[in-house]
Amino acid sequence: MRVVVYGAGQLAQMMYLAGSPLGIEVQAVDVNNDTVVHPVSKSPLDTSLDQALEGADALTVEFEHVPEHLLEEATKTGKLMPSIESILVGADRVREKALLEGMKVANSAHRIVTHLEQLDECIETLGEKLILKSSRDGYDGYGQWRLANKEELPELKRALATLNLEKVPLVVEKMVPFERELSLIGVRNKQGDVRTYPLAENLHYQGQLHVSVAPATHVDDALQAKAHDIFVKLAEGMDYVGVLAVELFQCGDELLVNELAPRVHNSGHWSQSGAVTSQFENHLRAICGLPLGDTSAIGPSAMINIIGCSSFSRELLSIDGSHLHWYGKSVREKRKMGHINVTTDSYTKLGEKLHDLSQYLPLEYFPKLIGEAKRLK
Ligand code: ATP
Ligand code: MG
Ligand code: MG
Repeated sequence: MRVVVYGAGQLAQMMYLAGSPLGIEVQAVDVNNDTVVHPVSKSPLDTSLDQALEGADALTVEFEHVPEHLLEEATKTGKLMPSIESILVGADRVREKALLEGMKVANSAHRIVTHLEQLDECIETLGEKLILKSSRDGYDGYGQWRLANKEELPELKRALATLNLEKVPLVVEKMVPFERELSLIGVRNKQGDVRTYPLAENLHYQGQLHVSVAPATHVDDALQAKAHDIFVKLAEGMDYVGVLAVELFQCGDELLVNELAPRVHNSGHWSQSGAVTSQFENHLRAICGLPLGDTSAIGPSAMINIIGCSSFSRELLSIDGSHLHWYGKSVREKRKMGHINVTTDSYTKLGEKLHDLSQYLPLEYFPKLIGEAKRLK
């Protein structure tokens, strides 16, 4: 079987690695120049995009910002999974909010803003602590602005003055005083079967995911069931096929959906060694019409992103239960270079292992790791 992935980054690479044992060959499309490349070496393959689409059993994406004309071409083949509508929901916060509201899925209170004057009204209805998000092209906290109090409004308006809000509106959200950030990774196959992973707890630093712990601590059956039900409602409502990530804010017993990612997700990387079946394998199984794999956790796991640095000792692999996944990219500030997964059999041991790992990593990059090591130990 063959799967073509739009996007040639680390997610396509990890799908390729997961596909090999199943006899599923994964090819990647570099969307900057429409060439078909090997997902690991990134060398061009001896095939045109049209030939690759023709020869594929399924087409999918590794990110939601794939140019729309490519998604439209892919849709014509009848092989694109998830569907173009689901991908565009993840690429456009206005559509995303409309979907959540339409399905009555709890999310942060918000307004769509196409003129800066509407911001005064936002403060009246949502309060003065706001987060403003560009409706398109944002990730890792880029394309966002914050308002801490109404005295900052004139300055914020000046900062936003050059934006064309009629073309790309802002989604203005109330700042939610959440207790923590969780995510639910789930998968639905062509036959409509659904499996969800245990909730992961996500620790962000400067707008970027640094550490995920899964299963998250302090999750009772009722909370996990609530997250599962949100997933089922969304996935069935969209007739979704593949892995879908749901980012959540926990406020007491309540879960608010922050955003959706119509693809395999960074907060699901722990599943490569911490779950019976990884999110990458399950995504391929789902879009190829195969039975889904067991999503249970093997034991408490953590995933640590290696961001913007490549100088650390590979000796960290001496820590039992740890695995390194390196993406082979050139170093750039804030770029995700790779990640480490570590799985063990108790949270106390996981805390100890995170502490041990921190000895091998340049600490200025990993403040969240130290905090988590202390919390779990
Ligand atoms: P990602 O890299 O996950 O795609 P993103 O740039 O698309 O991120 P969001 O996930 O919407 O942006 O927001 C980034 C972070 O900002 C969230 O993980 C959360 O910490 C914070 N945040 C977002 N919305 C709110 C909100 N309404 N209230 C409080 N904090 C928020
Ligand atoms: Mg996002
Ligand atoms: Mg997010």
